[in-house]
Amino acid sequence: MPWNEQYEPVIGLEVHAQLLTASKAFCSCSTDFGSEPNSSVCPVCLGLPGVLPVLNRNLVEFILRMGLATNCSIAPHSIFARKNYFYPDLPKGYQISQYEEPICANGWVEIELEDGSRKKIGITRIHMEEDAGKSIHDQDSDTLVDVNRCGVPLIEIVSEPDLRSPREAYLYMHKIRQLVTYLGICDGTMEEGSLRCDANVSVRKKGEQALGTKTEVKNMNSFRFVEKAIEYEINRQIDVLESGEKVVQQTLLWDSNKGVVTPMRSKEEAHDYRYFPDPDLVPVLVGEEWKSKIKKSLPELPAVRRDRFVDAYKLPKYDADVLTTEKELADYFENVANTLAKKNDETYKLASNWTMTDVLRVLNEQHVALQDFPVSPGHLGDMINLIVDGTISGKIAKDVFEEMLKSKDSPKAIVEKKGLMQVSDESAIGKVIDDILAKNADQVQAYLGGKNQVFGFFVGETMKAMKGKANPKVVNEVLREKLQQRS
Ligand SMILES: [Zn+2]
Repeated sequence: MPWNEQYEPVIGLEVHAQLLTASKAFCSCSTDFGSEPNSSVCPVCLGLPGVLPVLNRNLVEFILRMGLATNCSIAPHSIFARKNYFYPDLPKGYQISQYEEPICANGWVEIELEDGSRKKIGITRIHMEEDAGKSIHDQDSDTLVDVNRCGVPLIEIVSEPDLRSPREAYLYMHKIRQLVTYLGICDGTMEEGSLRCDANVSVRKKGEQALGTKTEVKNMNSFRFVEKAIEYEINRQIDVLESGEKVVQQTLLWDSNKGVVTPMRSKEEAHDYRYFPDPDLVPVLVGEEWKSKIKKSLPELPAVRRDRFVDAYKLPKYDADVLTTEKELADYFENVANTLAKKNDETYKLASNWTMTDVLRVLNEQHVALQDFPVSPGHLGDMINLIVDGTISGKIAKDVFEEMLKSKDSPKAIVEKKGLMQVSDESAIGKVIDDILAKNADQVQAYLGGKNQVFGFFVGETMKAMKGKANPKVVNEVLREKLQQRS
C-alpha cells in the first residue's frame, strides 16, 4: 500500500447526482442546457419575492428509485429545509435541501473488491436538493454568472465512513454510477458534472476506535481523480501527524494539474447555514402504495443481471461482469443474443466475444458512445449466424465487421457484394490442393517421409491461394485424402 501502514484511512463519500427530469425541481423551467446562458430561468428559481415553489413529482419518483435500489428505508413523511448562504451564483441566497427528516436513510450497496470478495458500504441518507448556478471565471477579465442550473434537481447520496482505501472509494463511486444509469435517473458523467463527489477523509492508527479529524476534499471531477486525490490527502494527513502536528478540519480543493490539494476555507458547521424548515413547501408524504408501485417498476439491477447472464447464457463470470458494467452494453449483448438463429452456449459465447473484444475495442479507440455505434446488434447477430452456418469463416468475419463499421450495410449484403462467401465445395478446393501439391513435390516427399508439420504448410498455402475463403474443415479433410492417395 502506498502509505504508512501503521495508519488506517477512514473515508466517506458525498455524491451529488444531477437528475434527468425534464423540468427543474420547483418550477417548470427546462433543464435542457442547450439554451443560452440565463435564458432558462423564472421568478421561482431566481427566488424573487412573492413566488411559491411547487415540488416536481418526478424528482420524488427518481429519488425513491435510488432509495429502493440501495436498500434504504423510505420516510413516510419528510420535509424540505433552507440552507442559507450567499454566493454569486445563488441569487436566492439559500438552497432548498433536506436536513432533518431526509426521504431515504439507512441503506447499503455492495462493492466487489479485487480479490473477488464483496463488501457492504452503508448509505447514511439520500436527500433531495436543488443545484446552484455557475460562475465562469475563465473569460477575458470578469467573472460571468449563468443561472440556468439554479433549481435543477439533485440527489445527495451520503455514505457511512466505511471505505478503507482510495480503491474502495473508486469502486463505490463506480457502483453509484452504475446504479443511477441503470435506473435512468442520471447520465452519470463526472467530467460534465452530472455526478459530483466530495470525500471526507481522516486517518487513525491501526487498532484505534476513535475517528481522527477529517477534512473534506472537493472538485474531483473524474473517476481517476477520486482515487488520486484521496490517496494524496491520506499521505498528507499522515505526514502532519508524524511531524507531531494536528490535522485541521477544513475543506480542500483537488488541483488536478498540480496533483495536490489546496485549502479552500475552514469547514463550515451545520449551524453556519442556519437551516430551517422551508415555509413554502408542504411535507412529502410517501404511502405504501406509491412505494410498492415504484419498487415494481425498478429495472433489473446490475448485480442481478450479471448473475442471470451466467445462468441463462452460461457465460463465464468475467464476461458477465464486463457486459453488465454499463446498462447499454448489457442491452446490446442481449439484442445480439436475441438475433442468433441457433441459441446455445457456443453461439452465446461467440456473441459475448464479439461484443467484449471487437465492439468495445472500437468504442474505446474511436471514443464513441454505444448509441452512436454504427454496427447494430441485429447486424452483429446476423454476422455471427453467417459464421455458424458456414457461409463465412471467422477470419473473413473480421473483414465483414470492418466493412459494417463503414457502410451500415447488412452483413449478408456485404458478403454478397464482396464475394466473401466461404468455399466448401470439395472439388473446387481439391483442384487448388492438386496444384499446390504438384508445385511442392519436395515437401510432399518430406511429409510422406514422416515430417508431419508440413501439413500446416499445405493448409496455409491453400488458404492463401483461395484468399482465406476456403472452409478450413473441408481443406483439412481433402488435403488428408489427397496425401493419403500419394503414399
Ligand atoms: Zn424556473
